[in-house]
Amino acid sequence: MGVKFLIPNFELYSKKALPLIEKILNSNMVTNSQFVSEFEKITSNYIGRGVVATSSCTSSMMIGIKALGLKHCEIIVPSFTFCSTAHAVEWNNCRPVFADADPETFNIDIEDVKSKITPKTKAILATHVFGNPCNIKALSDMAKDKNLHLCFDAAHGFGASYENKKIGSFASFEAFSLSPTKLLSTMEGGLVTSSDENFLAKIKVARNYGSPPDYNCTMHGLNSRMTEINALIGTLMLEDLDKYVENRNKYAEYYKKKLSTPGVSFQKIEPNSVTTYKDFAIVVDEKEFGMNRNQLTEHLHNKGIESKKYFYPPIHKMGAYKEHNDLHLHVTEKIANNILCLPIHSIMSEETLDFVCGAVLESGRK
Ligand SMILES: *Cc1c(COP(=O)(O)O)cnc(C)c1O
Repeated sequence: MGVKFLIPNFELYSKKALPLIEKILNSNMVTNSQFVSEFEKITSNYIGRGVVATSSCTSSMMIGIKALGLKHCEIIVPSFTFCSTAHAVEWNNCRPVFADADPETFNIDIEDVKSKITPKTKAILATHVFGNPCNIKALSDMAKDKNLHLCFDAAHGFGASYENKKIGSFASFEAFSLSPTKLLSTMEGGLVTSSDENFLAKIKVARNYGSPPDYNCTMHGLNSRMTEINALIGTLMLEDLDKYVENRNKYAEYYKKKLSTPGVSFQKIEPNSVTTYKDFAIVVDEKEFGMNRNQLTEHLHNKGIESKKYFYPPIHKMGAYKEHNDLHLHVTEKIANNILCLPIHSIMSEETLDFVCGAVLESGRK
């Protein structure tokens, strides 16, 4: 039995999608038209805030920072996140300042953020790691107090909630990814949410080269448009999203129950939060478990089970971030060196879960 790390489920939508793809092609309106507007409307209803559809989360963060008017400043980001959180800062000629992670939630550490605020700091861009909401209350209070923009890389967060409100309804802007590795996917795509209508109007201009209809560009924009076919796929998949979130939470609980063994720990989800489990992670303590993370990866690979070392290396240790390589983020490095994400799908059988659990458990100390 082989177990894939990821199954994006696109095949479930092919029957419904095909006649509509034909309709889109026959209309000759293939980008940023009726299906995109409809998709923006339904995702906006879902989140409870204004939404602009884009080509990706990375481009969403790039134009989000640009539309806030931030440049030549410092933006505090986590290092335990996907590379594009920091890339978006660099593309805007701002300096990413890396803060450490919380050892339990894996999200940005509030106290470390506080200690890294300088007169040059203008924003915090935090990630809801694996869909687990950050401590939004503490971050919002701090941002307000220090007069900073609070923004979220909510790439993993579509469908997650914090104090009964959907992720996407909190910050200056929040950027979602709809790439094939996420629960809700448009194949490639992204969303920007904000409560500020003027800001969203700017994002609409920014995703279209920075060009209003009269071609007299008002900003340095990108082509970050979503195509009609992408929006169609997202519209079809959105109908099943809540079920997918519910399933993944069920599978994660199953994993946690079966894998409760010395040397294996899990990401903490606060009681006021619902995560998406975009990824299900275990942290391996070599001494207690009897095998290190890399050996476990190899063991699972030999059983035909795919796993991923998300997020390793952490961004401050990457080649593209050489000037930060000497920085020491104790918790981030410890998590990154010992974490392993196991296969989790939006639809998964108990048999598959048992097979993965069996392979993990047999590799530990007997
Ligand atoms: C997937 C991901 C991104 C990038 O999303 P794209 O839509 O592919 O640009 C950004 N941040 C995080 C945390 C991600 O996991």
